Order: sequence, then C-alpha cells, then structure tokens
Amino acid sequence: MSDSILIAGPCAAESEEQLLATAGQLAVNLELSGQKLDFFRAGVWKPRSQPKEFKGAGKKAMGWLSKVQTMYGFRVCVEVAKPEHIDACEKAGIKAVWIGSRTVVNPFVVQELADSIRGRGFTVMVKNPIIPDIKLWIGSIERFMNAGVSNILAIHRGFAQQNENVFRYSPIWEIPIELKVNFPDIPLLCDPSHIAGDKKYLRQLSQIALDFGFNGLMIESHYKPQEALSDAKQQITPEELATLLNSLTFKSSITSPVEYDLRKQRTLITHIDDQISQLFAKRMSIVDIIGKIKSENNLPLVQPQQFNKVVKTYIENGLRDENYTEFIQKFLELLHQSSIQRQKKYD
Ligand code: PEP
Ligand code: MN
Repeated sequence: MSDSILIAGPCAAESEEQLLATAGQLAVNLELSGQKLDFFRAGVWKPRSQPKEFKGAGKKAMGWLSKVQTMYGFRVCVEVAKPEHIDACEKAGIKAVWIGSRTVVNPFVVQELADSIRGRGFTVMVKNPIIPDIKLWIGSIERFMNAGVSNILAIHRGFAQQNENVFRYSPIWEIPIELKVNFPDIPLLCDPSHIAGDKKYLRQLSQIALDFGFNGLMIESHYKPQEALSDAKQQITPEELATLLNSLTFKSSITSPVEYDLRKQRTLITHIDDQISQLFAKRMSIVDIIGKIKSENNLPLVQPQQFNKVVKTYIENGLRDENYTEFIQKFLELLHQSSIQRQKKYD
C-alpha cells in the first residue's frame, strides 16, 4: 500500500481475548499480503449516543492494549475525551490518541485536552466534527498545534445530516479537501467505516478517498464482527481487510497541482453522478406511487399538462443556458417515456 498510512482495529475494546485475537489476525493477514499496520485502534471509552449502548471496557482495557503493543509491536491509538484518559494512556505506554467527532465540536473540551497533552510527545489524530463545520475542525487542529504537538493527523469520518444518503454519515468530500488545501503537510486519512455504517460500501468509499489523494485509511476490524458490541455491521475481519486493501488502487502521491486539481474534479464528478443516480431511484419510486394513485382512481396514464409543467420547471429553474436546451429536452422526453412505461404496470 505504498506510503499510505493504515490504522485498523476494532471499534471498541471489549475483552483481552478480542483484542489479542484481532491483533494477531491483523499481524498474520497483513504480513501475508505485504501490508503494514501503522496503528492498531480500539475505543476504550466510547461516546455513545444512548446510555444503554456499550461504552467500551474502560480503564481495564489499557493493560490489554499494552500487551498488543508488546506482543505484536503495533503502536496503539485510543480515543480520548478527558485529560484523565490521556493520563491513563501515558501510564500504559500508549502514545497515540484520537479526538472523536463528538468531542471536536466542543472548543472548551478540545482546549482542555490540548493543554493536558502539551509536551508529552503524543501523536494526535483529529477527527472531523460530527456537524459539517470546517472551522471547528481547523480550530481543533490549531489548538493542538499551539500546544506544540508536532505529530498531527486529520481523519475524515463523515458528517451527520438529515438526508436520503445510503451512508450512515454524509462524506461531503469538499470539506476534507478544503482542509487539505489549508494544511497540506498534515496527513489526511479517511475512515470509511463510520461514513458507510455498512461493510458493503467500504471498498467504494476507500477508493474514492485514495483517488482524492488522501494519505491513508482508518478501518474498523474485529475478529468476530457479527458478535461486536458496537458498530457490528461496519466491521470486517482482518482477512477481509487484507482482501479489501489488495483490491484498492493506491495511486502514487500527487506531485503537480494540475494533477491534483484534475483528480479532484474527476472525483467530484463521480460523487455528483452518485447523487444523481440516487435521486433518480427516488424519483422513480415516486413515479410508482403516482402510477398506483392514477390506476386506483381511473385517471389517464398520460397527463400532458403535467409533463409540460415539468419541462417548464427545468427550463425556468437553472438550466437557462441555451447550450443545454436540446440536451434537456431529449433527457426529459426519455425520463417521461420511462416513467409512463413504469406506470403501465399499474394500468
Ligand atoms: C470511532 O472511531 O470508533 C469513533 C467513535 O469515532 P467518531 O468520533 O468518528 O464517531
Ligand atoms: Mn465505531
């Protein structure tokens, strides 16, 4: 995986057996496929939305994670949200931490963490805030920079949005890319596990991130994903992780600004096409509902005045550029025909 950074490990620390087995399988599977693990991750204190959810094993997991470090030589990273978490990490010899997306939204807490970490030699990974506000993300990074932390990484894990997205969190790629423009020297990683919420989207999201020029990936991996106490649907086995990594294309690092811009524009187009296809699917399901209503009420299948209204909407709202008129007319005709075709099944 070239010079790309890889972080993997379970969502949460659950038991000594789970951590050691997952770490062991990662060591074997990654070694066999020629990959290297830069950090082993595990959430020890999980900021769960609801109190009844599994919160991670807490302080007792620190000893288990020290063992992971000594047995496998992995550097471990843990999520911290309070100064006392940082103290517990230092005591256990864990020198890498990440700041979670729910913590990054709170400047008071971030400042407290930055003050506590000053001068202690930690690597700090700053996840994006859970809301799409780049200033909070930049501000958090700056608080750690101001505290003299020299090893800082940024992690894109998607944003909470009320929408129709198939993903658990919206990627809104423009935001991490803008961050990269502001901080070209800070490695930017993508966490496709939390964006996706489901392992079936991991490959697609990881490849988009790499195509955008991200510097690495953080992926959740568990030795028995179906039994995981948190985020079970999005975790994969170490073996699946090795297969996933082998299937990805790691482009050489981008050197020229033109190349970067071209790659960025192409990936934006892929992202837009993705949204268009999701909107089409949604439009078609509404067409089906209209088809049923027409059939149940004996209304005619084709209502020309309705179609004219659709054409007018397109022409008046936005696509006024006459270069597009012919295209849009053909496109609407096709859309109309296929909608009628669909509704015929209810007739
Ligand atoms: C995690 O990585 O397990 C986690 C809780 O992170 P986030 O803050 O991105 O939800
Ligand atoms: Mn998780």
